Amino acid sequence: MNEYIEREAKYGARNYAPVHVVVDHAKDCLVWDVDGREYIDMMSAYSAVSHGHLHPRIVAAAHRQLAKVAVTSRAYFGTTLGPFLEKLSQVTGFERALPMNTGAEAVETAIKLARRWGNRVKGVFDGKQEILVARGNFHGRTSTIVSFSSEDSYRDGFGPLATGFRHFDYGDMDSIRAATTANTCAVLLEPIQGEAGVLVPPAGFFKELREWCTANDILLVDDEVQAGLGRTGKWFAFEHEGIRPDVLILGKALGAGVLPVSAVCADAKVMDVFTPNSHGSTFGGNALAAAVALEGLKVLEEEKLVERSAELGEHLIERLRDVQVEARPLIRDVRGRGLWVGVDIDPRYATARELVEALAANGVLSKETHETVIRFAPPLTITREMIDRAVDIFRKVAMEKAATLRREGNTKEVPLAAVVD
Ligand SMILES: *Cc1c(COP(=O)(O)O)cnc(C)c1O
Repeated sequence: MNEYIEREAKYGARNYAPVHVVVDHAKDCLVWDVDGREYIDMMSAYSAVSHGHLHPRIVAAAHRQLAKVAVTSRAYFGTTLGPFLEKLSQVTGFERALPMNTGAEAVETAIKLARRWGNRVKGVFDGKQEILVARGNFHGRTSTIVSFSSEDSYRDGFGPLATGFRHFDYGDMDSIRAATTANTCAVLLEPIQGEAGVLVPPAGFFKELREWCTANDILLVDDEVQAGLGRTGKWFAFEHEGIRPDVLILGKALGAGVLPVSAVCADAKVMDVFTPNSHGSTFGGNALAAAVALEGLKVLEEEKLVERSAELGEHLIERLRDVQVEARPLIRDVRGRGLWVGVDIDPRYATARELVEALAANGVLSKETHETVIRFAPPLTITREMIDRAVDIFRKVAMEKAATLRREGNTKEVPLAAVVD
């Protein structure tokens, strides 16, 4: 195992600090390391593997397309892009989509779209367009996107930073009103802040935001790269809020666990500010990616994975809340929607990372975000039995930690009501 880790560290840039598991192969919700140890995947590559690893229908669709053609660039038409875009329009309700590859590229595309719309349609002087962004946001790692990150380590040393972004407090309408100017062309935000710790917005926030955007001629740009395509128990997280954004950004699960595929979706009146030569991508919407993504959407629909996420997500949250009570006072909060749950660890007692490592040692893959939150987001194909197995392992790890704390007299006993709240 160590030889692989050492080689990556020696020849690779050191921009990650991976958990020490060397994955050899995987199938659906299970992963095996090079020593043959089995793990339950409760991370699914941040939603990129929502369909489970190497779903047979998606692999078959990829093979069929690989027998024909994979990449032609957008210099020509093909037989898979049209059907993929049509299906995407059907599931999102938006008239058009612009395919890209990674999530960050799709966010960049949405920023360009919003700025050009601001100039061409709203009449903002070119160069003066402003986009409102949330504190605690995560939208990717390009130089423009990190310019408006509130995470110091994402920005530090990467200046000069791009301008044209103003911050507001997530979930706070007053702060959005205060940040809005005549040059505001868009509000860009996540429907649930993932990297910030799976933060669910206060009820009613998105409705008010929608009204504010409509009244002030501002595009509501919804980054569902992680939240979209069933993760939260609806096709799209905006459905929980009873609103419709103007621009929807998708990625991760759109590639169905096989390829990077992303897209920006909008109606024609917005999307048509893009004209030939104004934007593009060599690999975006390539024949293989389109075939895979189309099959991925069909699998979500036909295998009812969205409904499954809603149902099993409730079960997962309930079971984790039981562990919260049993292992008190280790866990401060359990929150999320669908099969996307953050377990917030009290930093006085443990780091999320040490629990993530203990989980890996016991056969469960998860990942911390910041120092305090463990993220559980399994493939949407997971079974109730497999969730129970994973939670039993988490329970064991959490109870061991709680017992150690009690033995060391290292806890301030918090009243149960305060913990559960
Ligand atoms: C992961 C993510 C991105 C960036 O996607 P990449 O494919 O890593 O570039 C953007 N927005 C959100 C909300 C994400 O979770």
